Parts: sequence; C-alpha cells; structure tokens
Amino acid sequence: MQVATGKSILPGIAIGPLKVYHKTEVVIVEASTSSPEKELERFEAARVKAQEQLGVLYEKALAEVGEDNAAIFEIHQMMLEDDDYLDAIKSIIETQATTAEYAVATTGENFATAFADMDDAYMQARAVDVKDISGRVVNILLGQTDGSLLGDEPVILVADDLTPSETVQMDKSKLLGFVTRKGSTNSHTAILARTMNIPALIGVEIDDSWDGKMGVIDGYNHCVYVDPTADLLATMRKKRNEDLQQEALLQGLKKKPNVTLDGHEINVYANIGSAADVGLVLENDAGGIGLFRSEFIYLDSKNYPTEEQQFTIYKRVVETMAGKKVIIRTLDIGADKQADYFNLEHEENPALGYRAIRICLTRRDIFKTQLRAILRASAYGKVSIMFPMIISLREVQDAKSVLAECQRELTAEGIPMGEVEIGIMIETPAAVMMADELAQEVEFFSLGTNDLTQYTLAIDRQNPHLDAFYDPHHPAVLRMIQQTVDAGHRHGCWVGICGELGADQALTETFLRMGLDELSVSPSSILPLRKRIRNLDLSK
Ligand code: PEP
Ligand code: MG
Repeated sequence: MQVATGKSILPGIAIGPLKVYHKTEVVIVEASTSSPEKELERFEAARVKAQEQLGVLYEKALAEVGEDNAAIFEIHQMMLEDDDYLDAIKSIIETQATTAEYAVATTGENFATAFADMDDAYMQARAVDVKDISGRVVNILLGQTDGSLLGDEPVILVADDLTPSETVQMDKSKLLGFVTRKGSTNSHTAILARTMNIPALIGVEIDDSWDGKMGVIDGYNHCVYVDPTADLLATMRKKRNEDLQQEALLQGLKKKPNVTLDGHEINVYANIGSAADVGLVLENDAGGIGLFRSEFIYLDSKNYPTEEQQFTIYKRVVETMAGKKVIIRTLDIGADKQADYFNLEHEENPALGYRAIRICLTRRDIFKTQLRAILRASAYGKVSIMFPMIISLREVQDAKSVLAECQRELTAEGIPMGEVEIGIMIETPAAVMMADELAQEVEFFSLGTNDLTQYTLAIDRQNPHLDAFYDPHHPAVLRMIQQTVDAGHRHGCWVGICGELGADQALTETFLRMGLDELSVSPSSILPLRKRIRNLDLSK
C-alpha cells in the first residue's frame, strides 16, 4: 500500500479504481514513413473511431442538454466527412511520406488559420472546431484518452491539473473523486468539486504507476491510499457508510425553516454551475438558487452559446425551481475560466485583467445574447440578474442600460418576459467602498468572498503556495462584509454571501449577527448549514 498526502477540498471518502489522465496537448514532429499506405489505413481507422466517439457524445448531449447544444457534435461528424479536409490529410501523407498524426495535426492547423482569416463570423468560429476534431483524431492515433476523459466505469481521476472547463465536461456519474498535483483550494475546479459533492485532493505527488490500481481518497485525513490493505479498505467502507447515514439523518431537516432557536431566520440558497446541478438543489431543499455561474455554459461549449441554447438552459432551471428565486450571474469568464474561442490574450495578471463585466461591456454582442436569453427565461419563473466584478457606478449603469435595451427589443418583438430583480456581486474592495452609491442602483448585493478575500488581502486565490495566507476570517474581510450589509440595508437592498465562506459554520453565528439576509452555498452544504442555524441562539 502507498499513501500520498495533499490538501482536501471536501471531507469525504471515495473508493474505486484510479485512472491517470494526461493532457492531450502533444507536439507532433514531422516524421517520415516508408509506408504511406499503412499511414493512410491508420488514418482511416482513427477517423472511423472519432466518428463513433462523436456519435456517443451527440447522444449523451442530446439527452442531457437538448438538440441545439448537441448539434455541435453533428457538425464535427460532418467535418470528418469533408472532402477538402480529408484530401489535404491524404495528400500530406502521400506527398511527404509522413505519419498520419503529423498530416492530421498540420491540416488542422492550416485549416484553422484559413478559417480564422475569413470575414464571415460563422466560418471564423469553425477554426476552433477543425482544431478540435483534428486533436481528437491525433489522440486516437497516439492511443491517448478517448477524448471523454472518463471511461465506462466510475473512477477516481488522477491528473497533473484539471481546468474548470475539463471538470465541467466530465460525466459526474463516472467520477468518484479526483486527485491532482496542482490546484488551489479556492480555484474554480475546487469549487466545482464541492458543488458536485465529490471528494477531491490537491497538491499530491501523483504517480503514473497508480493507473488501474485500487484507490481511496480520505478527505478527512487529506490523503490517498493506493492499493489499500484489506483492513484499511474495510475501515474506509465503514466510514463511508457512516457518512451516508449522517446524510440520511440530515434529510429529516428538509422542509424545515432556517431559523435559530430564538427566531432569527435567514435564506439558504444553492450555488450551481450547470442545469444538471438543479437535481442536487431540489434534493437538498434549497430555498432558491443564489448563484448560477453561467460562465460554465460557455466553458462547456465549443463556441459562443447562442441565445436559443442559453434560453433553453435557463428556462429549464427556472421552470424546475417552480417559482423559487433563481439568481443568474452574467458571464464571469476570464482569469482561471478560459474558453479558447474567446481568443483572450495572455495576461500577466489575469485576476486583475480582462474578465467578467469588463468583457461584457466591451463585447456587447455577447452580453446582449446572454441578457436576452435570461430575460426570455424570466417569463417562466422568478429570475434575478447579477453582474460580477463590479468596481464602479458607471459599470452598473451601463450594464443596466444594455439590459433595458434588450427589454425594449423583446417587447417590440412581442416576446414575453417577467419582472427581473437586479443585483451585483460585491467582490472588490472598490465595490465595498462604493456600496452606499451602488445600493441605490440595485435591489440586492451578493458578497463574492472568494474574490473579495483575494483582492482585499492581495493574495492570488489560484496560487497553492499561498493557501496558508488566504484567510477569509481576516478582520479586514469581515469588516468589509459588515460595511456592505450596513450600506445595503440603508438603501433597501437585501444582502447575501455566495462565496465559499457562506458555508463556513464557524462564522454562521457571526453572519446572522451581522444581519445577512441570505447565504448561498454548494448544495451539499445546505442541510448541514440548516442544522447549524437551528442550533444557534442569538439571545445568549
Ligand atoms: C466569489 O468570488 O466569491 C464568487 C462567488 O465568484 P467566483 O468564485 O465564481 O469567482
Ligand atoms: Mg468571483
């Protein structure tokens, strides 16, 4: 048995086979072959396999996210039939007597460049697709992962690092837990693991030889056991069963109010990253959705999601919540959340860079597409819109005027909409200092304590070496929260927390005493938090 330690993202036990995942980014060098015929055959076999994979992905997407979202996989299948593309690959193999992977990678690059240079926006967007299908075929030729990251059996994934977009694309039913060498406890990948309620360990010295072996993540003791002894396995299974029993006990708190012994009530809502998380929200009896991180729709997409695609997703969430509040945060992309097709430039300080509302206010076409989709979904339930990364009054006023423009357009088009509540994230010190003025523009504030801690303490939340310094209990952060609550209330705004700190039970009493109106937490934290609230007595 081998034991490796790291930092736990979620207390919990995961037991299952380990699967070592390597990034598929490979540099293909030109290599000659004595048998172009054989390379042509290899290419054809890989092409057929890629078509099969895309067929499976299409069916999965169709079932999970509907026809519009699944269409991309059909487009990819068609591209793999395209004569120009296929001829180019075959010609490189034959004329240069080179390997199939080199020919596919080169053709992918050439076509992507050609598409990107075209005037037509639709054709430009195909650049990402042609790179994507070429990468898929190259991976097959190299015997790399099948492109879906996970196989048929549930596994504990072991990787050097996982990006938020890789994490969001995983089939949750196949993922028991994950172990990575890199990553920080405050990264979005970690947040996703908490939302999905998946035990995860970061900062672990991983080893390729673990592939296929039995593993156990012990989130309580911050370690992973590889090839555990029979005794240890039995202990861990027992512990996991106890956890399940605890969870079952918490189910008894469903439908009970979040009220202290002396009668103080607070809303407890859920944070979600995709429509697929709504089941967890209902299962854990959240009062509403306090943060829908809409950017994960963009990260789970190969291209800008259209108004129709987004509308379908928002409508589904809003309808499922059946009249309960759904706060949709507008696109908060940038920093660690990167989607290739945005073509964002490399930045020295991405956390301080071109992200979130800064992108939306400068690329209004993207912003309007999203706002129109949200407004259309508002006809089906109770929707609030929340703008992220605000630092000034002007940004809020600009965002509201784009929203008003969308409302006018939809009215003119005769498309129904509901009333939408408007709020902002308070996640920069500037917003805290401006809270009195900002409160007069909106109806609610939601404190993004993940970023607020990062910007207040000048500590990069992505840097694992700084985890020990990243202290959201720092008095400066707590005072910022209190200031925000007071300013919000002075002007009739309700104030909540949607950062990870909201679930920190060591601060639940403090938050209630501060006067917070809402805490929005990962679905699995709702019932434990309710239990904590119901045991508090603020009169003492
Ligand atoms: C936050 O910053 O606290 C927040 C909720 O937003 P995100 O973690 O997505 O940046
Ligand atoms: Mg944030």
